[in-house]
Amino acid sequence: MTNIKPSLYDYTKKELLELIQPKFRVNQIFGWLYHQYVQNFDEMKNIPKALKEELAQKFVVNPLTIINKEVSSDGTIKYLLQMQDGKTMEAVWLKMKDTQRDESGEVIQEAKFTICVSTQVGCKVGCSFCLTAKGGFTRDLTAGEIVAQVVTLKKDNDHKHNRKINIVYMGMGEPLDNLDNLAQAIEIFKEDDGLCIGGKRQTVSTSGLSNKIDQLGQMDLGVHIAISLHAVDDKLRSELIPMNKAHNINSIIEAVKRFPIDTRKRVMFEYLVIKGKNDDLGSAKKLVKLLHGIKAKVNLIYFNPYPDTPYERPRKEDMVAFADYLINHGLLCTIRDSKGMDISAACGQLKEKNELSIAQERDIS
Ligand code: SF4
Repeated sequence: MTNIKPSLYDYTKKELLELIQPKFRVNQIFGWLYHQYVQNFDEMKNIPKALKEELAQKFVVNPLTIINKEVSSDGTIKYLLQMQDGKTMEAVWLKMKDTQRDESGEVIQEAKFTICVSTQVGCKVGCSFCLTAKGGFTRDLTAGEIVAQVVTLKKDNDHKHNRKINIVYMGMGEPLDNLDNLAQAIEIFKEDDGLCIGGKRQTVSTSGLSNKIDQLGQMDLGVHIAISLHAVDDKLRSELIPMNKAHNINSIIEAVKRFPIDTRKRVMFEYLVIKGKNDDLGSAKKLVKLLHGIKAKVNLIYFNPYPDTPYERPRKEDMVAFADYLINHGLLCTIRDSKGMDISAACGQLKEKNELSIAQERDIS
């Protein structure tokens, strides 16, 4: 059996200073981890061999291995990552803006990227439209496994440590169901000597655990929140997200109102649009009423059908009419262009596909 060890990415700098002697070595190690993205202790050139051997007895450096990746024509790259215990999860590299150049070809603005990270293997929430939910829940990710997703993807895309990047906790799992490890990862990302990704560049996307939204707010980490609302009445929302019975729409809206939000920012409400379920103007009207008094932005997302799903992709004209209604009634609204449409776009699809092909290989052998 594999010997599973904690990763150096599990710890803040302050914690590493308690764990590693002499203390000045921690600065060097931090540089190797977050500026050079090394994979193992051997690559840490200025660290004495004896210390590297001592550390290697207790820790691993990067606990993740890339085992598959799919590249979309729009620049989205979906990664399947394996952990020390052999379990897998996904992270996605999203290109948000292309490089801007002037007439002479000089770069005036670098391309902008966002990394979508997972927080659990599987998920307990059980949304009826979600592939991850079908596989059930396996385990929480450690803080190091969350942090290492960003390091691994930055390394694979040759993205230097000091280039800005945004993080969305929107991959597999419900981030607030793994709040302690999530909060630790957020703090590690913020480290000045590390990746220096401030709270305002990190967005926690939740299916609406109202009590945990309050807890996250009390931690005052400076992060943004995004709420997967998807429905405007509790009946439909409970069908889509069974957890809604315990955390209904009203409790979520009240928790959002209590959340400390940067005055320049808005709370993002994700609304997955499903044909014939929630794509009518009556729903749009209720949504306007529900979000009254909240500095909100609504992100309408096309449902992307996958095999055996009972739900359908909405018509473009219904999507546009829905968006127009919100905008005409004072709500900021975007329609999410389906990044990575030509690869496995829905959460959990790459993992599912890989497991299918592994199963098929086993059948053949
Ligand atoms: S959509 Fe998100 S919260 Fe819902 S089951 Fe899937 S991973 Fe979990």
